Amino acid sequence: MTTLALSPDAAATVLAEQQEAYADLRARNLTLDLTRGKPSAEQLDLSDGLFALPAPGTVASENGVDVRNYGGLDGLVELRRIFAELLDVPVEQLLAGGNGSLTLMHDTLAFATLFGVPGGERPWGREETVTFLCPSPGYDRHFAVCEALGIRMVPIPMTPDGPDAEAAAALVADDPSIKGMWVVPTYANPDGSVVTTEVARRLVSMPTAAPDFRILWDNAYAVHHLTDDEVVSADALGLAAEAGHADRVLMYASTSKITFPGAGVSFLAASPANLAWYKKHLAAQSIGPDKVNHLRHAQFFGDAEGVRAHMRKHRDVIAPKFAAVEQILTERLGGTGVARWTTPKGGYFVSLDVVPGTAARVVALAKDAGIALTPAGSTYPYGQDPVDGNIRLAPTLPPLDEVEVAMDGVATCVLLAAAEAATG
Ligand code: PLP
Repeated sequence: MTTLALSPDAAATVLAEQQEAYADLRARNLTLDLTRGKPSAEQLDLSDGLFALPAPGTVASENGVDVRNYGGLDGLVELRRIFAELLDVPVEQLLAGGNGSLTLMHDTLAFATLFGVPGGERPWGREETVTFLCPSPGYDRHFAVCEALGIRMVPIPMTPDGPDAEAAAALVADDPSIKGMWVVPTYANPDGSVVTTEVARRLVSMPTAAPDFRILWDNAYAVHHLTDDEVVSADALGLAAEAGHADRVLMYASTSKITFPGAGVSFLAASPANLAWYKKHLAAQSIGPDKVNHLRHAQFFGDAEGVRAHMRKHRDVIAPKFAAVEQILTERLGGTGVARWTTPKGGYFVSLDVVPGTAARVVALAKDAGIALTPAGSTYPYGQDPVDGNIRLAPTLPPLDEVEVAMDGVATCVLLAAAEAATG
């Protein structure tokens, strides 16, 4: 991959032009925010039908469970059936939980730290060092969970086909402290990459020095397509079982960006042994999830096709915002040699690489001009991007006209920072 830089010949001219553009930008006194991958109000409105559900009188689920009462640690079967189809996992291996899959991921690692996992010799907390491979750029909250639990993080590169499986395989083969890795298989945060079946197979079959190695397979964007090319996620649980490592993969998903991030349903799919292990520890913490919410979601969607149809409405709202990002970056930065970016087919983010050493400067310039960007470095473990080159853009929340203004401003900041770097 070519190194991003402004040609020395162009630097002085670009510097003068962009200083002027930046002064104009600041004079506009903008207040714009491209920081977090949140659905917009228009997207949330799509799920307002939930407020009328469950329909009064429908308090029992299909197998006679009164959703108002305690119990049912696995979650409501009619909702699990819908998502088992979407996630391509057996319904018996799928648990539906409370709001937010990050809780399930956190608790998986907290349980592993406190109690150990099936196939392990001791709780991870009694190991001298526990290491996780962190494909980077990646999701900052994954890294925050590791940090909170004292898990050491080692970044590995991303490729267009997901994490660099050869880099992972080389590291896990000899180091028993490496107990796991994060994977966002579909439309990854932030680079939009999709794990191919070949990469998935390599990750679930690679020999590991740790007998209790786990992959946290965070399929947060499994159904979040932006184009007609609706990619199908690799069957990680099936491939792992086939490779003789059924317990290696735990898969997570949620309705956070399908219905309401503040009132959704989370899912955990895993091998029978992993699920029994998880539920044993969960049972000490909870008598059962919010089954009223499960029933509400099941009634709202009806079936898996109902979810797919609903996601097409999301796409109608957000695809134009992603198109605007692509168009403005191409118009302003295409051919300049100072930036490269992703064109995701789904998910919530665009990953923007700028001239090495300028990402923090770009974010600071944008901030001073009233455009909030995710802090530089946050896509890397410990907030440390080794080349200070990556910026995550999240265009879903602001209205389209604000995305356009913000992206034009970001392009100015990228060019200005590149010109500053080139002119010393
Ligand atoms: N996983 C990834 C990769 C995400 O990008 C996000 C949110 O941005 C989440 C998980 C959060 O999931 P939840 O809302 O289910 O906790």
